[in-house]
Amino acid sequence: MLTLALSKGRIFDDTLPLLQRAGVEVVEDPQSTRKLILGTNRADLRVVLVRASDVPTYVRYGGADLGVAGLDVLLEADAGDDGDGLYRPVDLGIARCRLSVAAPVGWDYAAAVRQGARLRVATKYLNLAREHFAAKGVHVDLVKLYGSMELAPLTGIADAIVDLVSTGGTLRANGLAEVERILDISARLIVNQAAFKTRAAALRPLVAALRAAARPSHAEAQS
Ligand code: ATP
Ligand code: MG
Repeated sequence: MLTLALSKGRIFDDTLPLLQRAGVEVVEDPQSTRKLILGTNRADLRVVLVRASDVPTYVRYGGADLGVAGLDVLLEADAGDDGDGLYRPVDLGIARCRLSVAAPVGWDYAAAVRQGARLRVATKYLNLAREHFAAKGVHVDLVKLYGSMELAPLTGIADAIVDLVSTGGTLRANGLAEVERILDISARLIVNQAAFKTRAAALRPLVAALRAAARPSHAEAQS
């Protein structure tokens, strides 16, 4: 039995069409079941539903043989890990967004940086934010939040946020604007390194099928 770790929402929704193109149908809908283990049309493949940020952990410890995780989650987790036991064979090109700095409309971020001001920045990506501002030589106090980052500047607990942006609609609705792009994000297939060797006969064809089904990042301009 192979186990694929997915998170509910965007990752699940965007992975389904790739699985379909690879000949895999998930037989239950996560919206209408409370089950955390879903069967597929293949007797040898099941899906487990975990938190987005837990996908690398399940795959690393072998609770799942493979999984789909955002580059944001992978890079943020990396900072705390060494020799992480994961292969990342495929950029699936789905769940695309970018990690950006956003600030209230009208607040001059560039000027604050130029003046060497000490900024208070709210984010759930402490490691990525720390690295970004350190590389720029900007002094920051980071405030860890788990969600609704847009509220932080509105309530005065931060000058700016570091968060994922896709259309920018949520930022606009809350009087914020993207002021700096840090990193382009898409979801990656990750595979347990040991499983890739010991279960090669089952895993390799599935990885190959998902690679073939994926729309790589650089194809965007051509599609
Ligand atoms: P949780 O809800 O468990 O706290 P989460 O909020 O990170 O986790 P999602 O919002 O489903 O879960 O995001 C999962 C992944 O989807 C992210 O890690 C990121 O890679 C990608 N993602 C997040 N927001 C967007 C977005 N606005 N557009 C496209 N992809 C996104
Ligand atoms: Mg979310």
